[in-house]
Amino acid sequence: MNQSLLYHAFGVRKGYDYVWTLYEKGCIRFVLVVRPEMLVCPRCKGLDVSRKGRRFRELRTVPIGLKPVWLFTEVPQCQCRSCGQNFQVSPPFAPAYASHTRQLQALIQSLRGMMTVTDLAAVSGLGWDTVKSIIKVRLEKDYGHPRLRGAGALVD
Ligand SMILES: [Zn+2]
Repeated sequence: MNQSLLYHAFGVRKGYDYVWTLYEKGCIRFVLVVRPEMLVCPRCKGLDVSRKGRRFRELRTVPIGLKPVWLFTEVPQCQCRSCGQNFQVSPPFAPAYASHTRQLQALIQSLRGMMTVTDLAAVSGLGWDTVKSIIKVRLEKDYGHPRLRGAGALVD
C-alpha cells in the first residue's frame, strides 16, 4: 500500500510507514511504524531522542467493503538525550485513549442522519455507547452554543 492511499482512505498523514498486511479472522490489519522524524521531544523540541521500547495500538478504521480494517500502529516509548524527558509518540489520526481513528469517527458523523445508533454500531464495529458519544460530541459542537448575538426576543 502506498502513502497516498493511506492518507486518502484512512487519514494517515506523513510520519508513518506501512510495513505489511495481516489477514486474520476475516479482518484486515495494516501494520504501521513511526518514522524517525516523528521522534521529537515535546518539552525542548530536541531531535536527539533515543527509543526505549514500543507498543502497538489497534485502531479500528473505516471498513473496506464488508471487511473490518484495523491499523496496528506503533507507539514508540522515547527519552530525550538533551533534557531527559520521557515521552511516547501517539498517532495523530486517532483520538487519545480511543480504539478507533478520526476517519471512522468522521464516517459515523456523516451517516448519523441516515442510520440509527444501533445500525452505525453494526457498520462501524464499535460499541453502541462509543457511537452515541461520537454523535453527541458532534451535536454538541454543532448546536451546543447557538449564537444569540443580535437576537432581540425569543417568541413562540
Ligand atoms: Zn527534550
